[in-house]
Amino acid sequence: MEASAAARENVAVFGSTGSIGTSTLDVLDRNKERYAVAALTANTNVELIFQQCLKFKPAMAAMASVEAGAELALRLKHAGCKTQVLKSPDALSQIAADRSVQTVMAAIVGFAGLQSTITAAMHGKRILLANKEAMVVAGEILNQAARTGDACIIPVDSEHNAIFQCLPESNRCDTAKTLHGGVTSLVLTASGGPFREYAADQMQSITLEEALSHPNWEMGRKVTIDSATLMNKGLEVIEASYLFGIEESMIEVVVHPESTIHSMVRYVDGSVLAQLGQPDMRTPIANALAWPDRIDAGVAPLDFVSLGSLHFAAPDVDRFPCLALARRALRQGNGATGVLNAANEVSVEQFVNGRIHFTDIARVNAHALDNFSPTAPQNVDDLFSIDQLTRQFALEYIDREVSVI
Ligand code: NDP
Repeated sequence: MEASAAARENVAVFGSTGSIGTSTLDVLDRNKERYAVAALTANTNVELIFQQCLKFKPAMAAMASVEAGAELALRLKHAGCKTQVLKSPDALSQIAADRSVQTVMAAIVGFAGLQSTITAAMHGKRILLANKEAMVVAGEILNQAARTGDACIIPVDSEHNAIFQCLPESNRCDTAKTLHGGVTSLVLTASGGPFREYAADQMQSITLEEALSHPNWEMGRKVTIDSATLMNKGLEVIEASYLFGIEESMIEVVVHPESTIHSMVRYVDGSVLAQLGQPDMRTPIANALAWPDRIDAGVAPLDFVSLGSLHFAAPDVDRFPCLALARRALRQGNGATGVLNAANEVSVEQFVNGRIHFTDIARVNAHALDNFSPTAPQNVDDLFSIDQLTRQFALEYIDREVSVI
């Protein structure tokens, strides 16, 4: 028998129509006795969120696009579904702050996920953080919001969730952000992406289709392209630094093409703790949802015999300059990480639109970082201003000097 909604944990899924959002709903569906879906949000995909509302019957839904929100409301009304579609411009924040919501899956892609994640932190929610860009652009402000609101941020990104699982218990939800317990460094693993073995002179002609074919993971478009440029690993270095309170020099990156070890923690006594599993995001999602418990994620067990062997290599920062750019931005602080993130969102979009070459993504990002040095952001308004100004700057640079069409 299903438990009543009141007895279950109320989860709001931000970005429910995306890759992480749909995987989250799959895990929630497998664990209906424990979780209720309180709210769903998306940008424009009315058809999918409509189906999700019919299935999960959330009390609230919201769309970032006004037209899409109106269409969803109409369709739900005709279908007799009681889900209320919130239509105000701050509907996402309203949901993140709603008293009925206990847990927030932050799975909107990019800077667009920032405001709702900060609101959830200020309101003391349990935040399952997939939206790495929020931590990249706003690490200090987001951590401060979590301290103020007494919120717990649990990483969903597979590498950070792996580290979360390998850290000493006392560090897992530590808002003071001071690593102890003998940790000497974090080791992020990287698949290396589809172009790991490409020669430098092959990189410029990489097509969108090639960049979207990740060898191991099925993910949304933006994170897949970030994985191909290794910007994703760079963003993850920044994310790890703010999530776990560890400086840049103590975060290693190692290429591990099988994506079986999701990341590791080194200890002072020479021990290295690793978390292993299938490359299936339902594992870190289930871990973040249920921690400190364990729940079914629908993931097949790892078969070591068919796996055979595991390989490791150093990342090539000459062919993949985005990784070094991210380390540089992290050393400079949150103003610079905001610049790098905004430039990268623009350059990835322009690559998707066919306006720049694959290798221009790093070129545009480097140009923004070289020429734009904002003062350290003090509040959310500063973060929005850095984001806007950098987007404009990067677009102008592309129009003027980089665009091929
Ligand atoms: P997708 O592109 O698959 O999904 C993005 C979601 O965000 C969709 O629901 C989309 O709605 C919504 N969205 C897009 N733009 C806006 C906007 N402007 N305002 C509000 N909502 C918006 O992304 P992923 O699921 O792949 O990634 C989500 C986050 O998780 C990213 O930060 C990514 O880096 C991170 N992540 C993803 C992993 C993965 O395996 N996919 C792994 C680790 C981290 P709509 O469908 O209507 O456009």
